[in-house]
Amino acid sequence: MVSTRVATVSDCVAVLEQAFPPAWAQSWDAVGLAVGDPEAPVSAVLFAVDPTVEVAVEAAGGAQLLVTHHPLFLRGTHGVAETGPGGRVVATLIRAGVALYTAHTNADVADPGVSDALAAALGLRRVGPLDPGHSADVHPADAQPAGDGAGAGPTVCRGLGRIGELPEPEPLDRFCARVARALPATAGGVRATGAADRLVRRVAVCGGSGGELAGAARAAGADVLVTADGRHHHVLDTVGEHPIAVVDVAHWASEWPWLTQAAARLEAGLRTRGRTVSTSVSAIVTDPWRLHVPSR
Ligand SMILES: [Zn+2]
Repeated sequence: MVSTRVATVSDCVAVLEQAFPPAWAQSWDAVGLAVGDPEAPVSAVLFAVDPTVEVAVEAAGGAQLLVTHHPLFLRGTHGVAETGPGGRVVATLIRAGVALYTAHTNADVADPGVSDALAAALGLRRVGPLDPGHSADVHPADAQPAGDGAGAGPTVCRGLGRIGELPEPEPLDRFCARVARALPATAGGVRATGAADRLVRRVAVCGGSGGELAGAARAAGADVLVTADGRHHHVLDTVGEHPIAVVDVAHWASEWPWLTQAAARLEAGLRTRGRTVSTSVSAIVTDPWRLHVPSR
């Protein structure tokens, strides 16, 4: 039996970086440890999409590490005074002894990653990369001998987006109801282009803003692309150019299923190192849209 020792922030970082290698992040991104002492002990970890003040307060209520998908600071930051939300988050976390770690675009392209979790939530089968060029990009970390983080399973870079199949074809309106059931509730809900009775079988997904993948999704044979942040001109052009329906959900909701997956990978990876932590997923809705009144 493996004896368990207290995990530290750096133990958690090591497991997360094996699951979501920082080298896979976009050059403009800001991933990794943003707040906290690597040597600090961790017994409870909170996962959330956005490091908002509300989420920081929740983490301060009992966690020693907050793992978020979106970075706290993406542009130059000259101070962390508590006159702005960024400073308030940093101060709230530091006062409570909570570290902050981010896996963003590196978690988008990793398999398993953000879009794999979305595909699984929708019940898709035979899920594969949307971009065939990424079908065999195995990270050198996978060549490491079993043991170091092996419990977290192998990680492969498969690029943005995934494509999979529904068990049976279903009309677009029923598919949208499936999407609504699979994701946490938001004011905006689910909206779609195309006719309600259009049959859907092959489904492309991209957690976050993936509208630019519509061409790749159609080329891969998708009937529908599920993503977020659809903009008027872009979606209008997309459905004009490609015979594909776009299903638009809240950005926050599309990435939320990843939190449970990432928490499980952290626990599994720590277990192989003889460490245990308890994990939880924040239920705070950080989708900024709070009110939706259908027009008549
Ligand atoms: Zn995002």
